[in-house]
Formats: sequence, C-alpha cells, structure tokens
Amino acid sequence: MAERVFIGFGSNVGRHYANCTRSISEVLSDRRASLKALSSLYCTSPVSSIPQPDFLNGAFTIEWGDSATKLLSLLKQIEKRMGRREGVRNGPRIIDLDILLFGRAVIRSPDLIVPHPRLHERRFALIPCLEIDPFLVHPVFHKRLEEFLDSIDEEQKVSRFCPVREEDVLPAFQELSHIPICSSRVEAP
Ligand code: AMP
Repeated sequence: MAERVFIGFGSNVGRHYANCTRSISEVLSDRRASLKALSSLYCTSPVSSIPQPDFLNGAFTIEWGDSATKLLSLLKQIEKRMGRREGVRNGPRIIDLDILLFGRAVIRSPDLIVPHPRLHERRFALIPCLEIDPFLVHPVFHKRLEEFLDSIDEEQKVSRFCPVREEDVLPAFQELSHIPICSSRVEAP
C-alpha cells in the first residue's frame, strides 16, 4: 500500500529557491512518487553554531509506493546529484532532503530513523508540515505536532517567504500523466 510521506527540504547555498524546486522535481520524476501537497517556502535561521546564511525550507507530501529505505536512497542520490558533499555536520548545504514522517511508521535502523529524530525540535520542519496538515500527530510521542512548537527556543526564526510556483516543480518528464499537479495547498496563506 502506498504510504503518505512527509519530506522536508532545505537549502542555504547557491540559488536557494532553484535548489529547493529542483529537489522536489527530482523526487516527483520517480514513478513511485506522486505529489499530494506542498507547503510554502519559509526563510529560517540556521540551527547551528556555525555562522552561515539563512535557509529556505519547506515540506511536501507524496504517496510513495515502495519502502522507506528505498526512499532514503533516492533522496541521497538526489542530494549527491545536486552537488551535496559530505561537510561539517549542521554546516551550510546546497540541499538537504529528510524523511520526516512515513505514514504512522516508527523505524529505527542504523541508517534511517522515522519520524525524523529532530522533527519535534525544529520549527523549520514542524511549521511546513502543519501548513499541509494542522492535525498531524507524532507517531512516537502521540502528541499533536502543533503542541511541540511552544517548547522550542524562540531563537529559531521561521517566516513565510513565498509559495512554490507549480511550473517550477513539474518534473522534467512532464508528459508522464501519472504526476498530479500540486494541490491547492500550493497557494496556502
Ligand atoms: P543529513 O545530514 O540530514 O543529510 O543526514 C545524514 C544521515 O542521516 C543520512 O545519511 C541518513 O542515513 C541519516 N538519517 C537517519 N534518519 C533519517 C531520516 N529520517 N531522513 C533522512 N536521513 C536520515
């Protein structure tokens, strides 16, 4: 059965907007993925002790017709193809793609932890997910995602930047009719 998966993305190197939209397009170019919703883009302060530019962050949901491990490997391939290099942890990056939620699954393997282990600690991940679904519940803590926001340090700045333009996330293979156009969430307030 296809799972509803929340993928978080972010970029603070190079052309931030283009990096984000390319990463979404590349995920959607895979036949196992179909887009269900897309958040706005948010300008966010880095959660890091390393001085670096602000990020553009967001999230999207897909239905994914394969395992979580296969999805992780797709995301890592895309990061690599886009020029991501192993760098300092929490340092600047051209693109970061994370599996935030994989249905209600709880996964703990050496390479993959789902829900993402820092989802509930990061406003830049929580806020885009809540834009897509305000009633999301964390499958480990059994609390609404919204409830985590109050306990997070206000130093984490997240401000809505802009919506993603549909035409910027259409996959390279536009003629493939299995790829749905973004939902109305694209224009979320
Ligand atoms: P990052 O620095 O965010 O790109 O993450 C680096 C590593 O985190 C990857 O090599 C993954 O194996 C691991 N990882 C564990 N859980 C996740 C997850 N839910 N989503 C993405 N990466 C994950």
